[in-house]
Amino acid sequence: MDPQMSEKLKELFETKLNRSMRLYLDTCARCGACVEACHVYQSMPETKYTPVGRAEIIRKLFKRYFKLQGKIAPWLGETIDLDDIGLDKAYEAAFSCTGCRRCVTYCPFGIDTQQVMGIAKLLLIGAEKQPQILSMLSDMSVAKGETWETSRQDYQEAVANLAPEVEALYPVQPGKPAIPLDVQGANVLYVGLSGKHSIVPAAAILNAAKENWTLSYFEAVNFAAWLGDTNKQNAIAKRIIDEATRLGVREVAIVECGTATRVMKFMTGSHPFKVVSIVELIARYLKEGRIKVDSSRFKGSLTYHDPCQLARNGGVMEEPRYIISKLTDNFIELTPNREENWCCGGGGGFISLGEHEFRMKSSKVKADQMKASHAESICTACENCHTQLTELNEHYELGMKVESLTNLVAHALVR
Ligand code: SF4
Ligand code: SF4
Repeated sequence: MDPQMSEKLKELFETKLNRSMRLYLDTCARCGACVEACHVYQSMPETKYTPVGRAEIIRKLFKRYFKLQGKIAPWLGETIDLDDIGLDKAYEAAFSCTGCRRCVTYCPFGIDTQQVMGIAKLLLIGAEKQPQILSMLSDMSVAKGETWETSRQDYQEAVANLAPEVEALYPVQPGKPAIPLDVQGANVLYVGLSGKHSIVPAAAILNAAKENWTLSYFEAVNFAAWLGDTNKQNAIAKRIIDEATRLGVREVAIVECGTATRVMKFMTGSHPFKVVSIVELIARYLKEGRIKVDSSRFKGSLTYHDPCQLARNGGVMEEPRYIISKLTDNFIELTPNREENWCCGGGGGFISLGEHEFRMKSSKVKADQMKASHAESICTACENCHTQLTELNEHYELGMKVESLTNLVAHALVR
């Protein structure tokens, strides 16, 4: 690596060294309390897959360039250089971590490995060694924010074609569109994903609640959050913020996507509208009696997977359980659950990256947990988790049905 690049990476590293990051890098007691908390280590017990092992790569770089001993006597050990080998280690550490933050809940100092891995990701971006697929998907999302009006009519036509499927789930009031677009002053802006599965069930529920809503032109997913590129992350979120502001909505409801919900709720500052997960909105509609569901529609036993970014990192834990209590009385909790639930292994952008073999191996503990529940079906409220659970179900031959919570509600709506 040429000295100019090395200097650039040091400067990038320094931008992350705020007070809490210095604390994370300085205070680890190597107590090991986080080790067993990581699903990757539980499933593939190698030191490099422990939270402390991952963070150690960054700590060694920190010592090398920002601590006196490392600066004057790096040969004394516990340091690594910012070179190609160092960056390869940073890559392996960062992109074998889903950012689930389960380890944080077990660390006595609250050391946030996901944040520490943010340094690794920033260095990789600086050296142009980041995963290209996440970079490309992020760029496409940002570009859509700049060019969406050119595809506006195509989108309107595609959305209008979904009306019969929405009506099959719940009849639309006469004179109203099944999927409204561009509704100025709507109460709710619903932000889906690409694919009708993320739009049709939610549309039926919003219509059943007689909500004054409108569909976003954008997808909620924020690939840059997994990439660790804060500028692009903000640009992707800004498309939705601008749209919500332009329409003057009171609330933005995010599709079943843990990361998108967390980014919009907690990482974009304050707005003149509220941000909720679609799960929170559905629970509210049920509580207020705005929608009713038929508890005889769902057959068999059901368990629920708490998506890490929605539950542990987003605080949405009781709402899904309230919804499930209306759908069935045959609910079985996974053990452990809520804040302590095992990550499914599909977060951190791993689904977009492919990585099938690693995802299956590193999530054996999740498959074991699913099997131990003896539930016939498992539902969740995150697209990534749904994909990962579906693949785990097939790979480990668990014989379960994997469901989306929104979809279950849409199919149980009482007319
Ligand atoms: S954030 Fe999750 S995947 Fe990453 S080290 Fe911690 S427990 Fe493991
Ligand atoms: S639990 Fe915290 S202090 Fe202990 S080894 Fe892990 S990161 Fe370090």
